[in-house]
Amino acid sequence: MTIKVRGYAAQQAKATLGPYSFERREPSDHDIVIDIGYCGICHTDIHQVGDEWGGSKFPMVPGHEITGTVLQVGPKVTRYKAGDRVGVGCFVNSCRKCGPCSKNLEQYCTEGMVTTYNGTEKDGTPTQGGYSNKIVVDENYVLSIPDNLPLDKAAPLLCAGITLYSPLVHWKAGPGKKVAIIGLGGIGHMGVKLAHALGAEVTVLSHSLKKQEDGKKLGADHFYATSDPATFEKLKGYFDLMINTVSAELDWNKYLDLLALDGAMVVVGIPEKEIPIGSYPLVAGRRSLAGSLIGGIKETQEMLNFCSKHNIASEIEVIPIQKVNEAYKRILASDVRYRFVIDIKSLEQN
Ligand code: NAP
Ligand code: ZN
Ligand code: ZN
Repeated sequence: MTIKVRGYAAQQAKATLGPYSFERREPSDHDIVIDIGYCGICHTDIHQVGDEWGGSKFPMVPGHEITGTVLQVGPKVTRYKAGDRVGVGCFVNSCRKCGPCSKNLEQYCTEGMVTTYNGTEKDGTPTQGGYSNKIVVDENYVLSIPDNLPLDKAAPLLCAGITLYSPLVHWKAGPGKKVAIIGLGGIGHMGVKLAHALGAEVTVLSHSLKKQEDGKKLGADHFYATSDPATFEKLKGYFDLMINTVSAELDWNKYLDLLALDGAMVVVGIPEKEIPIGSYPLVAGRRSLAGSLIGGIKETQEMLNFCSKHNIASEIEVIPIQKVNEAYKRILASDVRYRFVIDIKSLEQN
């Protein structure tokens, strides 16, 4: 039997979200049915609802920062049982055979990962995300949430957490490394916490000094406003690693000049428009400009275990689903401290 689900959807590009009922597939032998407790709001949800990257499918139920408890498991499921605390991130399947998949880097699957929403399942049905009360996912794409992490504060780890953890580890942020996080929003604030826990010296580059006090509390050693031209003079050639989380266009050339010899700027923010790059800021210091996309299932579990050990979770504002459209506006105005998380039980009020 298919699973009846209630959620919130956008019916067309840029539309406000409203109540929407739909069905999910009948669980197969390897599937888990999850009773969703919380879902974080990622800026990607706004890009996708706005069809800013093209190819958005509607109706769209966004949400890829999902936590909840297992309701039922298929007969061949071995990793989870009813009642377990679990999470689902940005993808729910991949080919499982290609080079990246065989290296536990399913996010770079050459056939394309099956995204949690705005994607297409292997059987051709559209995927729908976590702004809903239940989801059916293959056990291999489900994460275990450690007991000491509350489900609401852990939800943003499933995208924001792994999106910053993966490049920080890949580019070896740690003791003796000077790391800058550009943009202190949902994913950026996780970058500050994680880079600090990894032992790096952390600097926040934010467009104003409004979040300075918060930044320091999150673990930043330094905080600068990028609206002040003096910031770019003072920090020239300073950083080993910069992670750019900004969702809007920035002059990347200006930022590349802040890298030390052999430094790398890793882009994780995905603005709507492309950005021109000059070759000089790169060749001048053997610098690299790179990108990074979320993380694989194995690394996401490692990140959750790291967060458990260091007692790290997201700074959140929990909202009922009825306030989701208001939350989108506040995110666009950089008025979020630092992630909105939807309490999915609020769907019962509809
Ligand atoms: P968010 O909470 O809105 O944070 C973005 C931050 O960027 C803001 O808090 C703000 O920080 C800064 N910012 C926004 N507009 C700006 C502007 N016009 N000029 C300068 N700075 C600006 O968004 P998020 O959820 O963290 O996501 C950020 C980006 O990452 C989005 O594009 C999202 O799609 C992308 N993303 C990528 C991945 C990946 O795997 N690569 C995963 C998740 C998200 P300050 O106030 O501190 O300046
Ligand atoms: Zn996301
Ligand atoms: Zn693959």
